[in-house]
Amino acid sequence: METKMFPAVSAMPRLDAAHPSDPAISAIEQALGILGDRWVLLMLQHAFLLRVRTFARWRDELGISESVLAARLKELVAHGIFEPVASPDGRTRHEYHLTEAGWRLWRYLVAIYSWERGWAGRPGMLTLIHDGCGQGTRPYVACGGCRDRATARDTRTERGPLLSFARVGEPRHHRRTTTPVRPQAGSLGGCPVSMEILGDRWSTTVLAAAFLGVRRFVDFQRELGIAPSVLTDRLRRFCELGVLHAGTTRVYRLTDKGLAFFDVLVMLTDWAQRELPAPDGSALAVTHRSCGTPLRPVLVCDVCAGDLECRELSYEVAG
Ligand SMILES: [Zn+2]
Ligand SMILES: [Zn+2]
Repeated sequence: METKMFPAVSAMPRLDAAHPSDPAISAIEQALGILGDRWVLLMLQHAFLLRVRTFARWRDELGISESVLAARLKELVAHGIFEPVASPDGRTRHEYHLTEAGWRLWRYLVAIYSWERGWAGRPGMLTLIHDGCGQGTRPYVACGGCRDRATARDTRTERGPLLSFARVGEPRHHRRTTTPVRPQAGSLGGCPVSMEILGDRWSTTVLAAAFLGVRRFVDFQRELGIAPSVLTDRLRRFCELGVLHAGTTRVYRLTDKGLAFFDVLVMLTDWAQRELPAPDGSALAVTHRSCGTPLRPVLVCDVCAGDLECRELSYEVAG
């Protein structure tokens, strides 16, 4: 069965409501705080792919507790990713529709899919189809300037002086619950490995710091303000997953599998810096070294090399 993944752009809700993100910290830190959560990623995945719009359907699809779901929906509405809309049938109180900013997360989710497919591929996983060429696609990030593929190795990052990660773990992001997520939560089977790596704000933040050149245990600790026990746990898990390689003196380097997360983090950064208000001097500038221009990431089909727009994607579920 083939299913259209995204509606035409013209059908997307138009909303530019102000949202209460904290403009005092960098966009990337805010995004890590909002999106570094497995339930949030699963809710978004189901909103995009299965058009889940109601509290009851997320609850039933994901097996998420009502209190956790209510808290996540409240946060996502507060951050302008979903908007509550009166239900057309009048039976349920609200539907939750993706806002325009919410829809623009599609590139982030597609990048997660591509990583999972390439590095943790599992049978039964859904296949993304590029309508332009009719083929199963595993999109990659290219430079919008020169059209070449962009990778961690041929880009340069420069941090604004106010970009730090020390506030990602501050109490305003504190989430009381640590309800475990079933590995295959939801009828789509999720993206279990990516969800483990990206579905926790400390994990995502450790990964982001590794991409910015942090290598040593003490430097992670200092940069992130993270408890040593939590850091030890995340680094150990990343080594088990083959994302980081541990050297002899508590030095951790990204493996090729880890470096392949570049696409995911670059899409997260691009979304965050476009959508979330942040102070001057807190941005991360990414330059494509081969052409020397600021990286404007685009997603490209790995089969036909055509640019991907969200309305050109469909998916099939095997089985
Ligand atoms: Zn370029
Ligand atoms: Zn294609």
